[in-house]
Amino acid sequence: MRILPISANFGLNSVRKNNTQTRVMSAMPCDSVSFTGKNEGLRKVIILLGAPNSGKGTYARKIAQNFQIPQISTGDILRKELKAGSELGKLAKAYMESGGLVPDELIMKIFKNRIAEKDCAKGFILDGFPRTVNQAKQLDELLKEDKNISLKIVNLDVDRPILYARSASRYTCEDCSRVYSIKEGYNPETAKCECGGKLIKRADDTPEVLTSRLENYDKQTLPLIDYYGSKVSNVGVHGKDAPADETLARVMEKLQ
Ligand SMILES: [Zn+2]
Repeated sequence: MRILPISANFGLNSVRKNNTQTRVMSAMPCDSVSFTGKNEGLRKVIILLGAPNSGKGTYARKIAQNFQIPQISTGDILRKELKAGSELGKLAKAYMESGGLVPDELIMKIFKNRIAEKDCAKGFILDGFPRTVNQAKQLDELLKEDKNISLKIVNLDVDRPILYARSASRYTCEDCSRVYSIKEGYNPETAKCECGGKLIKRADDTPEVLTSRLENYDKQTLPLIDYYGSKVSNVGVHGKDAPADETLARVMEKLQ
């Protein structure tokens, strides 16, 4: 049976159709993992590295809940700044509207403001940031200003065939956007969401899209592993996929 980590939900769900039952989710008892309090008093800064489909965003959310620190992604902080209509937000918007990338320098300014907010006092976890070595260097400069930091970097090293298998088995409810991993041998065409909605393949969830995202990742983000060198703790998923809760527990160990 394939049990895969899915970003939208960690409950054990099932899809019923024609008296068959597809068990599609993995259970993740995240409450059972707790922070032991080592490095108490230090501001906990966590960087999660990993390819698309490595489960990074999902684990980041669970870790954030566990340590009660915010999860920060570039997309979120950009959206927030745009919504607030700040000067930095307007600048970022101009770049996005012209179809260009928001420059690292601007992202860093927005990021700096974000981590100065009250909810980041105890620490924060970065999800999908830094994305490039240039961003990592600027992040180092920024973090250097705070002597009270415990920096942890975890790399989710998941075999490529597993990344593709996760993508292939992933279906999304048309109505409520809940995400399912469909076990091999079941027909997603006839399976239904618990809400009754039809399960569909998202247009951007194809092997071709994943290949292109992985190429970008290899070019831009993979060099971060070398950049951070011995500071990186690896959590590998090799050979066959592992239950999400097992992998999370291993990640949490590295964060103590
Ligand atoms: Zn649904």
